[in-house]
Amino acid sequence: MVGPPGSGKTMVAQRLPTILPTLTASESIETTRIYSAMGRLDAGQPLLVQRPFRSPHHTISDAGLVGGGSIPVPGEISLSHHGVLFLDELPEFNRRTLEVLRQPLEDGVVTISRALTSTTFPADFMLIAAMNPCPCGYRSDPRRECHCSVLQIERYMAKISGPLLDRIDIQMEVPAVPFQELSGLPTGSSSAEMREQVEQARKLQVERYASTQIRCNAQLKSRPLREHCALDEPSQRLLKSSVEQLGLSARAHDKVLRLARTVADVEGAAKLTAVHLQEAINYRMLDRQ
Ligand SMILES: [Zn+2]
Repeated sequence: MVGPPGSGKTMVAQRLPTILPTLTASESIETTRIYSAMGRLDAGQPLLVQRPFRSPHHTISDAGLVGGGSIPVPGEISLSHHGVLFLDELPEFNRRTLEVLRQPLEDGVVTISRALTSTTFPADFMLIAAMNPCPCGYRSDPRRECHCSVLQIERYMAKISGPLLDRIDIQMEVPAVPFQELSGLPTGSSSAEMREQVEQARKLQVERYASTQIRCNAQLKSRPLREHCALDEPSQRLLKSSVEQLGLSARAHDKVLRLARTVADVEGAAKLTAVHLQEAINYRMLDRQ
């Protein structure tokens, strides 16, 4: 999420676990095991029932984030297993610390290698990151003027590496909302209603992939991806021109397809159309810049 301070990025991230599917029994056991091993389980709490939400500060060390130590101990990404890891002010994090997230983001596990042994911890988490649109924070904010130069903005954005951005499925702008608009807004969907939509979409995926090891769209790769995200003629043209214009990588191309499939599932649409695809492409905002 890219947006000025006070636009509600943190609030959105904190609410995310409340719209994710309810933790299943086996997921709960896996996450509880990590907390239990680290002595982080509250007395009288045998099992975690909520998806975890972790938001480490940007001064965190590599080991604190991904795990480490002479006797390897899990880090924040494992405490976020089956839940959400929120990194606020992403460009403030040490760049090397962010780079070590790449492998766990792909694999859902983290392997810590030592001279003689290597230890693997579960780390299947949803990464949510937030950043300001420029060093002062007020670019695109109608309430205040931004005096950052193009060079300063470029330098700021460049703190996030391309390969990390490439691994982020949804890149979106969170605009500044004037207070009157916020307070006068009609009530939108509640978390419970949104969770219902999410669970409906997941149910469609479970049914679609029933005969395979796949449980959700995020796990679609190579052949199953092409099979289940087949595009009609206009959609193929749209994707081809977007890939060329935005310079999308092969990884981003596949992410767009999976995300389009998810947009269609949330709508309850059986067929993937150019409208779904266009929405998924719009979420590659930072590739565009
Ligand atoms: Zn600025």
